[in-house]
Parts: sequence; C-alpha cells; structure tokens
Amino acid sequence: MEDCIFCKIINGKIPGDFVYKDAEIVVIRDINPLTPTHLLVIPVKHIAMLSDISPTDNTLMGNMIAVANKAAKEQGICESGYRLVVNNGKNAGQLVAHLHIHVLGGRPMSGNFD
Ligand code: 5GP
Ligand code: ZN
Repeated sequence: MEDCIFCKIINGKIPGDFVYKDAEIVVIRDINPLTPTHLLVIPVKHIAMLSDISPTDNTLMGNMIAVANKAAKEQGICESGYRLVVNNGKNAGQLVAHLHIHVLGGRPMSGNFD
C-alpha cells in the first residue's frame, strides 16, 4: 500500500527502530511510547485491520502473538508482565490502517482500557 506508513517502514522507505524481522512479521518500537517498553508487532502483508483477517491468514495472529511473547522476553518485560492490545476501527482508536499488536510493558497499568 503506497500511502501506508507501516508499509513504508517495512519497505525501508522511512526509518523504523526494528527489534525483530522475519519474512512474515516485523517488530518496531512505537514512535510515541505510552509505556517504557512499547512495541508494535506488524505483519509484512498489508491487512488494514483485525476484522479483515481472512481464513487464508489463519496462522498469522498466532505467529504474531508468538513473536510478541519472544520480543517481550528479549526486552526484559516478561516476568513483570505486559499487555497486548489490538485496536480495530475508529471507536477503538485505531490510527494506522495496517494491522498491528501493541506490546506494552515496563510499568504497572490500571485495568482501565480508556
Ligand atoms: P493505533 O492507534 O493505530 O492502534 O496505533 C498506531 C500506533 O502507531 C501509535 O501508537 C503511534 O504512536 C504509532 N505510530 C504512528 N506513526 C508511527 C511511525 O511513523 N513510526 C512508529 N514507529 N510508530 C508510529
Ligand atoms: Zn500497510
């Protein structure tokens, strides 16, 4: 997708702070971190949002969660705990229309999702 910021980062057209990369999934640091560790787990394939995942992508979310767990371990936030978040659509606050899992950790968080 030409005008997609995450596609541009994945394709090297704009810089990203990568902590993981394979043929299917990348992990970058969020440019505006909400917690001391704030990563974004992003599929290389442009899928606009979680609800757009098709049956042919059925292993993708599992693989993305496995990569999120691996990255959390490597960043040292596994034992203290972390939160995975996917915003799907406008009311959820999705700003970038390319599927991503937020990995948030490094400080205690409340149970309030607002
Ligand atoms: P959303 O609201 O779509 O779930 O989250 C989008 C996230 O992408 C936000 O946390 C925002 O800070 C992050 N973001 C937006 N533009 C960029 C960018 O150019 N680089 C990086 N690394 N993160 C970005
Ligand atoms: Zn994209």
